[in-house]
Amino acid sequence: MTDLHRLSIRELSEGLAGSKFSSRELTEHYLKRIEKIDAQVQSYVTVTPEQALAQADAADALRQSGMANVLTGVPVAHKDIFCTQGIKTTAGSKILDNFISPYDATIVAKGKVAGLVTLGKVNMDEFAMGSTSESSYFGATKNPWALDHVPGGSSGGSAAAVAADLAPFATGTDTGGSIRQPASFCGLTGLKPTYGRVSRFGMIAYASSLDQGGPMARSAEDCAYLMNVMAGHDDRDSTSVNVDADDYIANLNGTSVKGLRIGIPKQYFNVAGLDADVKARVEESLKKLEDMGATLVEIDLNMTDAYVPTYYLIAPAEASSNLQRFDGVRYGYRCENPVDLTDLYKRSRSEGFGPEVQRRILIGTYALSAGYYDAYYVKAQKVRRLIQQDFLKAFESVDVIAAPSAPTTAYKIGASLDPVEMYLGDIYTIAVNLAGLPAINAPVGFDKDQLPVGLQLIGNYWSESQLLSVVHQYQQATDWHTKRAAIAEETV
Ligand code: GLN
Repeated sequence: MTDLHRLSIRELSEGLAGSKFSSRELTEHYLKRIEKIDAQVQSYVTVTPEQALAQADAADALRQSGMANVLTGVPVAHKDIFCTQGIKTTAGSKILDNFISPYDATIVAKGKVAGLVTLGKVNMDEFAMGSTSESSYFGATKNPWALDHVPGGSSGGSAAAVAADLAPFATGTDTGGSIRQPASFCGLTGLKPTYGRVSRFGMIAYASSLDQGGPMARSAEDCAYLMNVMAGHDDRDSTSVNVDADDYIANLNGTSVKGLRIGIPKQYFNVAGLDADVKARVEESLKKLEDMGATLVEIDLNMTDAYVPTYYLIAPAEASSNLQRFDGVRYGYRCENPVDLTDLYKRSRSEGFGPEVQRRILIGTYALSAGYYDAYYVKAQKVRRLIQQDFLKAFESVDVIAAPSAPTTAYKIGASLDPVEMYLGDIYTIAVNLAGLPAINAPVGFDKDQLPVGLQLIGNYWSESQLLSVVHQYQQATDWHTKRAAIAEETV
């Protein structure tokens, strides 16, 4: 079969169950596509054909014995921020270029239990800091819709791999938009779960109070399959919530769009820099939801101006603390011929970290220093609480809140945005992480250059089922999520 990459996760699951194809055939098909096409996209940092084929054979044997799960034998790509035993885990950084984890991240281990086949590890901004995937030590990943554009970031490799049909779905992480924004830039569906829903064990930390893993795929239905694997309590992550996860597949039709109250934040649609095409497509998608029975309710989110400064104090502060562990002593890159211990620390870190990571370590260290801690970090934590309260107040009168996922479509590679300009592009996503809420991106059309536009829906705590269900119903009534970039149409 030459078109296995066009099947949805449900179709893959049914095809494997009905012996229409084996996991080995499916896995070989994807490996062949990666070999032929990924040179143009550069979504993978590491491809693991031998391990993948061994896992595929094991999946096929399991199926023969009647012991298979729904996803046994379905391939996946993991963001290179999740530790994988025996396979390099780099977090897009030179400092981890030689790092082989002795254990699997919880979500990787859960994937193995579910029978997923790991195709490899996909590219990302260094330590998930960025919005373009260009800060990766391994070079920029390309947007499958226009190869001279970025796929977004930081989970740009995950988005590009799925958009080019080089993986049926992928894991991502979202500290301030890194699932939703690349999903938006690449025309995909991506879910950032409620903080604590998905285990962070073995996920290399950027900003621990904001980081959350989630699925990236073509549709809400495909995301639901991966959420069923990823979600749930984990004793090894003390911030993982001890409640049972939902069955996201069973709940796909659980929420009715009829009667759904969608909040439209006034402030969000007046942001300077909101592209006219993005605004138009998002408004059209909201009109469609209205036609399907939803009610649009204008709301206020008065803290909007505080989002970027608050996030860009808290995230770097936590990052500066988390990244202390990369010292050139225990693992990772070590400079050549250090003259003493200070020299070893200094040069290993200066040579091992890229400029964006160093910038954030400096900002974070400054914000946490004795003289400035109260003025910056403590203040930012207080504003963070106000931002959360703003959302909770809004959820008293609406069920979900709508926004663009990003003010623009994908940037050109090397557009050399200055750092502050890049940070401003995160305006629609970062508050969700500050508040710990779940949110989803759904593709809703294209701009004048045929680049994808995304709608973001933000839900109240633990409402992942509702978000997936609303998008699923939108996707039953529209076909944006089925559109494919030319490069994904290439057969090999
Ligand atoms: N673009 C944001 C940042 O650079 C978000 C990144 C993320 O979610 N990991 O911090």
